[in-house]
Amino acid sequence: MARYLGPKCKTCRAEKTKLFLKGERCSTAKCPISKKAGPPGKGPKSRQKKMSDYGIQLREKQKLRKIYCMLEKQFKITFVQAEKIAGKTGENLIMLLERRLDNVVFRMRFATSRNQAHQIVSHGHILVNGKRVTIPSYRIKEGDEISIAERSKKMIVIKESLKEYSKSGVVPWIELDPDTMKGKFLAVPRRSEVTELAAINEQLIVELYSR
Ligand code: SF4
Repeated sequence: MARYLGPKCKTCRAEKTKLFLKGERCSTAKCPISKKAGPPGKGPKSRQKKMSDYGIQLREKQKLRKIYCMLEKQFKITFVQAEKIAGKTGENLIMLLERRLDNVVFRMRFATSRNQAHQIVSHGHILVNGKRVTIPSYRIKEGDEISIAERSKKMIVIKESLKEYSKSGVVPWIELDPDTMKGKFLAVPRRSEVTELAAINEQLIVELYSR
């Protein structure tokens, strides 16, 4: 399925926020958003233009969709599934996004970005509970074991990515053994634990889809 593969930092600058599309680099001073770079190709006047409520809600949805590198249709399907779960729809949506296999592979440091994780999964390098899974949207459950297929353990991209583990570890709801290239999805995180999304107001997305 086609995904946006254009300049990643340009996407963040257009949304005026960090979308974490380049892995560790996004947490460094090299990030253009940290340097306060404005939207690409726009002057100071257009930056100050007041947005409608609809525009604000739409932008919030686009930000979250782009963070998880998803197409519009897939994102909407996930939202509809989130609505069917008891509790707050916006929070349910984030929980479902966190359970995507490509996201978990990224969180386990097997890839430096979600886009790369998407590719690693679809090329058959990932096992879930010992079985090959090639569907990036596959939904991981608590206790599932995710590992690198034996023949893929020598892949440079995976080895390079795992080096980040020694620098910054993994999120609390993930367990990883970098030596065996195996990890466990310990629990679905609470909304407050997903600190990378602290700037996202998921309620605006709920309002958008309720129009
Ligand atoms: Fe680029 Fe990452 Fe910063 Fe976005 S968050 S502008 S992808 S470095």
